[in-house]
Amino acid sequence: MTGRLLIELCDVVVTMDDAGTEISGGSILIEDGVIRWIGTGRPDRGQGANVVDGRRCIAIPGLINAHHHLYQSLTRVRAQEQGLFGWLRDLYPVWAGVDAEGMRAAAAVGLAELALSGCTTTTDHHYVFPNRRTGILEAEVQIAQRIGLRFHPCRGSMDLGRSKGGLPPDEIVEDTDEVLARTERAIAELHDPAPGSMLRVAVAPCSPFSATPRLMRESAALARRSGVRLHTHIAETADEEAYCREQFRMRPIELLDDLGWLGPDVWLAHCVHLSGDDVTRIARTRTAVASCPTSNMRLGSGLAPVRGLLDAGAGVGLGVDGSASNDSGHMLAEVRQAMLVARGRDGAAAMSARDVLRLATRGSARCLGRDDVGSLEVGKRADVALFGSEVNEYVGTEADPVAGLIFAAPASVRHLFVDGRRVVSDYVLGTMDIQEIFEEGRRAARRIRSSSSAGPVSGG
Ligand SMILES: [Zn+2]
Repeated sequence: MTGRLLIELCDVVVTMDDAGTEISGGSILIEDGVIRWIGTGRPDRGQGANVVDGRRCIAIPGLINAHHHLYQSLTRVRAQEQGLFGWLRDLYPVWAGVDAEGMRAAAAVGLAELALSGCTTTTDHHYVFPNRRTGILEAEVQIAQRIGLRFHPCRGSMDLGRSKGGLPPDEIVEDTDEVLARTERAIAELHDPAPGSMLRVAVAPCSPFSATPRLMRESAALARRSGVRLHTHIAETADEEAYCREQFRMRPIELLDDLGWLGPDVWLAHCVHLSGDDVTRIARTRTAVASCPTSNMRLGSGLAPVRGLLDAGAGVGLGVDGSASNDSGHMLAEVRQAMLVARGRDGAAAMSARDVLRLATRGSARCLGRDDVGSLEVGKRADVALFGSEVNEYVGTEADPVAGLIFAAPASVRHLFVDGRRVVSDYVLGTMDIQEIFEEGRRAARRIRSSSSAGPVSGG
């Protein structure tokens, strides 16, 4: 129970409902984590509620991050001039040092950064479980609960080591049967399917070059048996496409189709290198895509055909991707980046500010299979981000403050509510001490650096 809360008289409330309604001078009444009233001015029922002053603020649905690797918060700015495969080869030995304590520190850094950039729901795709280390997934769940974000951890996996023709070293892959048993246990222990859930688990073998076809097929069967969603990386680079052609005589999306991995219960990270046929298959099967433009540009992977996917009717959301290929996890920055990359690829009309905000809210909600978040409407969970318009960079955007939020340099969120609970107040994280998070993160980063067998940071 979170009681009654009235966010009143916002400069504008961007609802992201089907009609794209925006309410000037809008207020939102929240009861027990659910939006009960939304409209202009003050509701009659508002008496007695705790009031948040929304003046000089833009209210949007909390941003939803559809792809991440939180543990990478400890290993930024590495392999600076490498593409995906070289970057992975450099980083795998470092990641062999990941344990529950490191994950706790990394998740706090990554989740705090997401919260402070307006994100209320995030996934995490964790696929590194070296030497059967335990408690890693549980550690990030614990931190997500403390910080107060809605969380969709993916039990990731790799079972195709270098000795069997895969990319990762054998030391960080798991046995196929053990993966399946541990994944089933994680679902049983953590997954909450109830409406308004704060915690849902997905099943997520890592990629075609680190997971065997058997793991892919059996993971899909397990997820469908358990009623949870499926997630993986696909069509990220030209190297991956060449690998799939050589190993399987198929393009990456054809391979997924062959493995029973396209469908409305699947969302795919990246989808950069797609043929026209790939786009059609994704849309026809109602598979969703999490586009990660910053990572794709950082690694030189390419520019995803997001406009083409949307025009074909595919669901597209946004993800910051791991902090080692984004080097941060600022969700509003990713929104801006997605707009700019779509324009760079397909022209200035390819992506408007409202379009891209829809991707980061409704689109990402679709990726995660949620219909109870992603818009500000009566009956939806009260996940609300308020961005202040009093900071200097918005001067001159008064003609369209919503566009200003996306076009201008990415701001920090002023107030953030998740399920009606206050997570950020006046730009300050209220649920954990940010300085302690940073100090613990630095300690954990030093530990992983000294424990790894890898050489010094390259590039720069
Ligand atoms: Zn990723």
